Amino acid sequence: MKAKAKTAAEQPVLVVDSEVVRLIRQHARSSGKTEVCGVLIGQDRDHRVEVAACIEGQNADEAGAHVTFTQDTWEHIYAVKDKKYPNERIVGWYHSHPGFGIFLSDHDTFIHRNFFSSPGQVAWVFDPQSDEEGCFGWVGGRIERLTRIAIADRRGGEPAEASGKPEPVVSADSAHAPALSRPEEQDAIPVRIRRLPAEDSSGPDDSSLEQLVFKVFFALSALALGFALAFFLFPRVVLVPVVMNPATGQLIDARTGEVIAEPRDPNAGSTAGNAGANAGGSAATSTQHPNAGQPDPAKSGQPPATDPNGKKGDNGKPK
Ligand SMILES: [Zn+2]
Repeated sequence: MKAKAKTAAEQPVLVVDSEVVRLIRQHARSSGKTEVCGVLIGQDRDHRVEVAACIEGQNADEAGAHVTFTQDTWEHIYAVKDKKYPNERIVGWYHSHPGFGIFLSDHDTFIHRNFFSSPGQVAWVFDPQSDEEGCFGWVGGRIERLTRIAIADRRGGEPAEASGKPEPVVSADSAHAPALSRPEEQDAIPVRIRRLPAEDSSGPDDSSLEQLVFKVFFALSALALGFALAFFLFPRVVLVPVVMNPATGQLIDARTGEVIAEPRDPNAGSTAGNAGANAGGSAATSTQHPNAGQPDPAKSGQPPATDPNGKKGDNGKPK
């Protein structure tokens, strides 16, 4: 605990101008997945490192996973420094780790030990893909990631009302509102696109065939149940083979031999009609009809049954 507290106390305080942070980010993002590097310009006093500017490492060998400060790189850096920052010092260097996070590789520590070995010199690392950044510096004889880093705004302290610049209307209306909704859509849409093909490629071969078989089976079952219900519930015509007795006109069931129907007497209807018309609606109408189902005396050749009303005479007259 004591050693750790002492080590933390020895870390330098780093103060970086916000413009330098912006320029490093801009430089790193400008080259995509290729590493970039440069040097930090400023002052180093009493364990306090102030970074006021930076110089891009032109002509640096940025092939592969790490940067290298070549002779051309240093010549360009010193040329710019002598011209623009003659009274400043080189207080460190920066480079980018596009997509692989904030740390110092063996190659990076090699560069730091050989070119930036002064106790006040630091190594700034920025990942343009994750937007992470961090800084490493000398603590005793070791290189540590620094914990006390401050961003200074050189123009801080200006009166806020002095700018006199109106806020652009375009950015408020058309840029702000879509900018809030677009990241959500961009987050959501790729997830949907990824999930759908994944389910489609594995699902349909098995499940859709199972579903089809199930649907066909279900439809056939429903159809069979419907036919069964209709067979028992709805009235249906029963065909019975019959023969007709040519002598009597009776209908006889061919299987049982029973007489199932008597021939209809054609005279009965006309007789009743005549009787009703002639006799002015006597009881003949009601008495004739119940006997219609019985054997007709005229056709069977038997003597006619006695007529209680004595209508026999009336029947004989028209014939
Ligand atoms: Zn590196």
